[in-house]
Parts: sequence; structure tokens; C-alpha cells
Amino acid sequence: MATEEPVVVIGSGFGGLSAAIRLRALGHRVVVLEARDQPGGRAGVVRREGHVFDTGPTVITAPHLFAELFELAGRRMEEFLELVPVDPFYRVQFSDGSRFDYIADEARLLRQIAQFSPDDVAGYQRMSERSRQIFEVGYQQLVAEPFDSFWDMVRILPDMLRLGSFRSLYATVARYVEDDRLRQVFTFQPLLIGGNPFRVTSIYLLIHWLEKKWGVHFVMGGTTRLVEALVEIMESMGAQLRLGTPVEQIEVDQGRVKAVVTSGGERIPCRFVVSNADPCHTYGELIDNGHCRKNHSRRLRRIRHSMGLFVGFFGTKRRYEGVAHHTILMGPRYRELLEDIFERKVLADDFSLYLHRPTATDPGLAPPGCETFYVLAPVPNNESGIDWSEEGEGYFERILESLERRVLPGLRQHITTRFWHSPNYFERELRSVAGAGFGPEPRLSQSAWFRFHNRSKDVEGLYFVGAGVHPGAGLPGVINSAKIVEKVLPRPGIQAGEKRGSFKVGRETA
Ligand SMILES: Cc1cc2nc3c(=O)[nH]c(=O)nc-3n(C[C@H](O)[C@H](O)[C@H](O)COP(=O)(O)OP(=O)(O)OC[C@H]3O[C@@H](n4cnc5c(N)ncnc54)[C@H](O)[C@@H]3O)c2cc1C
Repeated sequence: MATEEPVVVIGSGFGGLSAAIRLRALGHRVVVLEARDQPGGRAGVVRREGHVFDTGPTVITAPHLFAELFELAGRRMEEFLELVPVDPFYRVQFSDGSRFDYIADEARLLRQIAQFSPDDVAGYQRMSERSRQIFEVGYQQLVAEPFDSFWDMVRILPDMLRLGSFRSLYATVARYVEDDRLRQVFTFQPLLIGGNPFRVTSIYLLIHWLEKKWGVHFVMGGTTRLVEALVEIMESMGAQLRLGTPVEQIEVDQGRVKAVVTSGGERIPCRFVVSNADPCHTYGELIDNGHCRKNHSRRLRRIRHSMGLFVGFFGTKRRYEGVAHHTILMGPRYRELLEDIFERKVLADDFSLYLHRPTATDPGLAPPGCETFYVLAPVPNNESGIDWSEEGEGYFERILESLERRVLPGLRQHITTRFWHSPNYFERELRSVAGAGFGPEPRLSQSAWFRFHNRSKDVEGLYFVGAGVHPGAGLPGVINSAKIVEKVLPRPGIQAGEKRGSFKVGRETA
């Protein structure tokens, strides 16, 4: 039986959509309020001159997490989508001209490691085994657990110490692998979810095992197809999505959620809110600070936000056969560049780039004989004070020049359409504080129990999903955050604050 007042989900990113599907499957009435005129949040889409540009995630690493959502609606993912494996996962090109294909096939991988540095083969094998061990604990046991009690942290401490989680990812990989380029190959991955490899804990080494175990996939039609399909099944279950409806306030009375108020002045009474927005935006701008703990504003001010992103989009009137679907173009500096981005917050002259060529796998994303690309550069977030209206165009031009030189010959004379997003897009369009690409930075002091919890300690009835909360950014993380909310939000008919043990656990049909 559906509750009378809806659970209001603020935001339709992957976290919000997953939470809406899970809660609707439990029998809640669910309304998703999205500020923008399209769903998907960071997984947005721009269609121009026959090109389909995904504007956010492109790498699907744990497809079963999506399949579970379709199953909750009584459907199969394959009815809606075709997911194809991508090989190589990534091609890493170095400024000295050497390149490394990061792949699943162990024999091919070991051959390449041996070519780079024969002495590192055995070290890589030990590192890979460590990655498996970390995955067994960090992913299998922690990623879908609430972590809102300090005891959750204490419980895992022995395992974390045993696995060396106090070390950074880079320091850990460097214990096993000597070659500087191989160290980069096995540490750049957290950059795709907002983490500095020199600061994130070695728990992030689990990504290596996760990619090996489940592969790297692409959705034919682009990630936007996945968003469309999730919206379709969510609506078929009876949850409502309202686009162009920014929430301006979460009304709280005596410590409990009472309603949300939209920018149009509409008041929607509700006892449960699941915020998919940046938690710093939710606490800082949607809730009267008086409802939060005394040190709350100080905590918000002290949050370290992840880096910003500059994403340049372009279509070409010719094909670039042979360029991989995912290419990482390492610049001449690694540690120092990351210091510039994360710590000094200055726009460096050099860059490391991620080049996405979706038309390598799905030519249908561009007109015949053409290609669709995006190129992503990690940059400082908006705490830098960089004026992107001044810097953006020149920065993009330098990136295109570099791509032309390193991987796409003659590029600029073949571009037919182009545009870019800077941290301003993230701040203004997606309401991400400081224009951060991925919400609060994943570092030890902002991870697990130290990260924003999925259930608010300040306001009864307020829950969180998405990149800003535990377990963190990236599609596996945000989708797992919805699993956590499913566990901790009372079932239909239960009041906020009542004990969960007082109801029968089990799904009701939507
Ligand atoms: C360029 C880029 C590339 C990436 N590549 C990958 C990748 O390949 N693989 C991967 O796994 N991850 C990748 N990531 C990370 C991943 O995309 C994100 O972590 C994830 O999509 C974030 O989802 P989310 O649920 O936190 O919500 P978001 O996508 O952040 O969406 C939040 C939504 O809330 C809405 N909102 C905010 N405030 C309000 C309000 N007041 N009222 C109403 N609505 C509001 C916003 O409009 C937005 O739609 C990438 C991210 C970016 C930016």
C-alpha cells in the first residue's frame, strides 16, 4: 500500500533515479523533482548537427547494478539496452610517445608490462592480488552499508589496517611497481571520480579488480540511453518525474522533514526527502541552518571539494579509425600537475587529458563518415577564482592543438561543431558547490564514516544518495548509495524515527 505523502527525491542523477526505483518497488509513492529540463544530472546529453554528445559518464563498470534496477520493475535490461564491452579499457599515451593498452586479458597485459619494465611483472601480479583482497573487503562488504555509526568504522578498522588503507593509492602502487609510467597506468582511475591518486586511500585500488572482474562497457546509443531507460521503467512503476522544478527549501519542524518548497512556490508536504543534490548545497542552501548541529556551518566551510572539470565537445567531418574508444593522454608532469589542480588551484600550461570517442563503438552517434568526441581535463575547482569566460576558449584551443599533435592529425580543419563546459557549468547548472566535478573530494578524512551519511543526523526524515555521500562518486558508488537508502529509510507506513524492526520486511508490488 502506498503512503499518502510521497517520498520526495530531489534530483534525477543516477543516484536519484536508482533511489526512486528502489523506493517505489517497496511501495512508497515517489516524486522526483529535477531542477533541469532533462534527467540524468551529470549524465546529460547535447544533440547538435547530428552528433549525440554525452556530457558526463561514459565508462560503465558494474553493469549488474543497473540490471538489478530493471529487475525491480519486473523487466530485463536487455529489453531496453545493448551494453558492449570496450577493448582496450583505456589506451594510455605518454608524452614520450610510448603507449600502454590497459586491458582485461592477463597475458596481453603482462606482455606489455614486460616491455615497459621486465622487473615489474612479478610486482604487478602481487599488486593485482592485493587489489583483489581490497575489493573483497572494500567493495563486497562496505560499499552498500550505511556507515552512519562510528562503530561501523571501528568494525572495519582491523581490515583497513591489514590492507594498508592509511596509505595513498599512489604510495601503495609504488610499493609494487617501479616504472613511473606503469605507476601512472595503475593510479589514474580515481581521477575519473574526483580523487587525487596521491591523496585517495589505497582502497581505490579495488577499481582495478572491479574492472577486471566485470569489464568496461559502453551503452549503444550513449549513456543517455541508460538514463532514458531508467526513467521509462521508473515511470512505468508509477513514480513521477517533474523536470524544471528546482527545490528551494526543505521545511523542517521540530527536527523533522515536513515539506519541500519549489522555486515556483509550490509546497509539497512529505515526511521523507531523499536528496540527490550535492550535500553541501542541500545543507547550505535548502535547510535553515538553525535545524542543524552547532558546528554545522563550520563543517560545511571546511569541506574539501573535488577538482573541477573542463570538458570540450567536438564533432569532425572525417573518421579517425584506430583511435581507441577511451584514450588517456598523460602530460609531461603527473604529481606536480595534480598539486597544481588540487592544492595550489592554478591553471597549468600543461594538462593530462581523457579523450572519449564513442563513435569508435557506436558510429550512429554521429552523421555518416563523421565522429563525435569529448575531451576532459581535470582543472582546479571554482575556489581558484579562474575566470572561465576569459580563459575557456583559449584553454580549449590549446587542448585541440595538443590532440592534433598527439592523436588526431589535422583535427582543427575537420571540426564542424564544438562547445565546452567549465566548472561554471557544474556550479550553475548542476548546483555543485565550488563547481566541483564530483562533490566532496574522496580523501581519507572525507570517506566512509567521515563522508556525509546517507541518513541525516540533523534532520529526521532526510536521506542522501549520490556522489557527495557514502560511498562516493562514480556510477557504482552512486547506485550503491541508493541501496543503502533502501535499507535505512522506513518502509511504507512507518513514521520517521520509528524502529525498523516494527514492520515486516519485504517488497510490495508497485
Ligand atoms: C564529465 C564526467 C565524466 C564522468 N565519467 C564517469 C565514468 O565514465 N564512469 C563513472 O562511473 N563515473 C563517471 N563520472 C562520475 C559520475 O558521472 C557521477 O559520480 C554520477 O553521475 C553522479 O550522480 P549523482 O546521482 O550524484 O547525481 P548528479 O548527476 O550530480 O545529479 C544531481 C541532480 O540533482 C539536481 N539538483 C541539484 N540541486 C537541485 C535542487 N535544489 N532541486 C532540484 N534538483 C536539483 C541536479 O540538477 C542534477 O540533475 C563522471 C562525471 C563527469 C562529470
